[in-house]
Amino acid sequence: MNDLRAESPEFQSDLLQAVKGVLDSGHFILGPEVSKFEDTWAKFTGTSHCVGLASGLDAIEVGLRSVGIGPGDEVITTSMTAVATVIGILRCGAIPVLADINPATGLIDIDSAERCLTSKTRAILIVHLYGQLRDLAMWVNFCEAHNILLVEDCAQAHAARENDSTAGSFGIFGAYSFYPTKNLGAIGDAGALVTHDSDLAHSAKILRNYGQVTRYVHDVVGINSRLDEIQAAILTIQFGRLMEKTRRRMEIGAQYFRDLHNSRFDLLSKPISSENHVYHLFVLLSEERDSLMEALSDEGIQTLIHYPIAIHQQEPLKHLRRDPLGLLGSEHHASTCFSIPCAPHLTDKDVESVISSLNGY
Ligand SMILES: *Cc1c(COP(=O)(O)O)cnc(C)c1O
Repeated sequence: MNDLRAESPEFQSDLLQAVKGVLDSGHFILGPEVSKFEDTWAKFTGTSHCVGLASGLDAIEVGLRSVGIGPGDEVITTSMTAVATVIGILRCGAIPVLADINPATGLIDIDSAERCLTSKTRAILIVHLYGQLRDLAMWVNFCEAHNILLVEDCAQAHAARENDSTAGSFGIFGAYSFYPTKNLGAIGDAGALVTHDSDLAHSAKILRNYGQVTRYVHDVVGINSRLDEIQAAILTIQFGRLMEKTRRRMEIGAQYFRDLHNSRFDLLSKPISSENHVYHLFVLLSEERDSLMEALSDEGIQTLIHYPIAIHQQEPLKHLRRDPLGLLGSEHHASTCFSIPCAPHLTDKDVESVISSLNGY
């Protein structure tokens, strides 16, 4: 599924050089490397501000707190996501309300989201699951019509675009994770939020550093969520490879869509345009998931499940409010989905062997 070792000795030496640069500078927290990466990432996402944070989870919490969302407020999101999406909402003190997915894409369904609206809804947090950007104009209109904020969880969608805009630039803010397995990954935990809103960025910078406005003066009770200099320096190096790696993911994804044919599993909907999907994961659906995964494993092909348990089925989250019609789409997805290898380290031969194993099943 992933091979996170440096792909070449030259690349490893670039990474080591970046770390050495930080060691030599003697500046380890909120220094020039963090600013440099923030500038790079804001520019790349077409936003005016990027705030480096310690994780993707923190980016959701800090972003929501920065727009004043907190206790008593409701935030609608999907039940088919990484648990961090929902923990971020809980951590800012707000109430997550779970909407169902569109079974064809795995993405939050607009009719279900509409049924989740109440007078307390302040925002909808959409997740660009598996790397897919879809119908952003529709979501922008939906949020305007209901006078709520649009927030994007971009943890799986680095470099995904729709109508010439990049993930994270559609909503009030976009939350990114740079966890090592993400399409742009650090060598430890890292995250960031991007936004067009300078007040939001200002608040986020205060919140990430204990609420400090000037040295030892604290206007709010913040947290410690500072992206560190080493991870920022590594991210700047990794960024240099992001587009090349993204193109490779897109190539593999397109090949799967073209060549996978077997009635014993289904593919999700094809992206409308190739730039809409960056294939963080390539997901199939099958009622025979277990035996399919076992057959692949017997041929040396690793698979994983994203995600085997929907959010509302997780023990500590079973009480969460949800679409009054239930979350059957998410439940069915959780019991049938599995992810096949789709990462830049795969050779053409690897990809062909995944295709022939699946088609031959
Ligand atoms: C990885 C991920 C997160 C959390 O990011 P961390 O950096 O691990 O906190 C949030 N949402 C989604 C959809 C993710 O895939």
